[in-house]
Amino acid sequence: MSNKDLQALKDRYVAAGAASPNNQFADHAENSEVWDADGKRMIDFAGGIGVLNIGHRHPKVVAAVKAQLDKLMHTCQTVMPYEGYVQVAEALSKVAPVRGHAKVMLANSGAEAVENALKIARSATGRNNVICFDGGYHGRTFMTMAMNGKVNPYQGDFGPMPGLVFRAPFPVPYHGMSEEQALRGLEMTLKTDSNPKDTAAIFIEPVLGEGGFYAASPEFLKAVREICDEHGILMIVDEVQSGFGRTGKMFAIEHSGVEPDMMTVAKSMADGMPISAVVGTDKHMDSSGPNSLGGTYTGSPVSCAAVLAVMDVFKEEDILGMSQRLGEKLAKRFAKWQDQFECVDNGRNLGAMAAFELVTDKKGREPRADLAAQVMKKAKEKGLIILTCGMHGNSIRFLMPVTIQDDVLEEGLNIVEEVLAELA
Ligand code: PMP
Repeated sequence: MSNKDLQALKDRYVAAGAASPNNQFADHAENSEVWDADGKRMIDFAGGIGVLNIGHRHPKVVAAVKAQLDKLMHTCQTVMPYEGYVQVAEALSKVAPVRGHAKVMLANSGAEAVENALKIARSATGRNNVICFDGGYHGRTFMTMAMNGKVNPYQGDFGPMPGLVFRAPFPVPYHGMSEEQALRGLEMTLKTDSNPKDTAAIFIEPVLGEGGFYAASPEFLKAVREICDEHGILMIVDEVQSGFGRTGKMFAIEHSGVEPDMMTVAKSMADGMPISAVVGTDKHMDSSGPNSLGGTYTGSPVSCAAVLAVMDVFKEEDILGMSQRLGEKLAKRFAKWQDQFECVDNGRNLGAMAAFELVTDKKGREPRADLAAQVMKKAKEKGLIILTCGMHGNSIRFLMPVTIQDDVLEEGLNIVEEVLAELA
């Protein structure tokens, strides 16, 4: 079917809230390229929102998934456990930098992992409150909607949000929130809103994903760790977007040396198969009773096979090196654009988690979400998929596979440059 025919079906049958504004339908893909239903090739700088750090359909993952399909697709692990789940748990426990010996539970999506992490934190501490950060993003279920540090479009018209969610400022010095102020804000939240003795957990993304690719410094993360330790609060890092090699290390928190009590991971851990995990210190992970965590599909054997293949790819190929080198190339290009265009500013990256900002001018720094949307639209017309992000919607973020071929990367970056030259 053509894009046009598929669009007509979509308009008729897909709920407006679940529909994509994109009128190109993906047909097939390889590494950093996707072809649509009309055969048009697109360069993919979005990676399905950070899911494809090792590229579309990595051959080793495809082979592992195919082999698993021939053996076992489902039992529900609470009905009858299987090897893949246990192996993924072992692999994540060994690689995740949480305090002490780590145990694991698997879920299906990032939001579900966050929900479970909070359930575990509540049962482990006997406390109920949770503190999250401005600009943070954790998902679209009720609790995670309440935890998101941006109301629109996520909370929409969906009615009252669950309570006992409190917020602190995330440090974004470029937009006037220094690390010192942010830290004071967190201390104030603990004084004025969320009594430390009632606070189960502080959730933080080491690098804000949807919120704008702003990295918290090692010092800030260490200070959050100290505050958690002082009050017996669990520090939970949400690495759903920043994990699995995006920042040049397996997990972004490793740049700080901080050991969280728990982590949530998903996205690039399975190269596109749906799966997520909570990884945490054993005493916390073991705090709730049998059958208190889980779900019909959690840790599907097919997704587990994909995770194990992804972990092998990280061992066999230099994915972290590629991520670092990609980050360096992007930073260099951002610097060039900043010199070239008055509206391009605040190029930033931690490894290949890279973004720049579109503003009125470098002095005024007024966010230009309208320009970011135009850049995205024009790039699409020229065959490049990019995404915006940020509290102000004015950042362009790059989440292309770190395995992207040099010539495809260059071609994509040249499209961005061309578009900026046309619109700036
Ligand atoms: N946490 C973070 C940091 C995310 O970036 C996302 C998704 N963008 C989520 C949680 C939610 O993940 P999912 O969409 O798989 O529920």
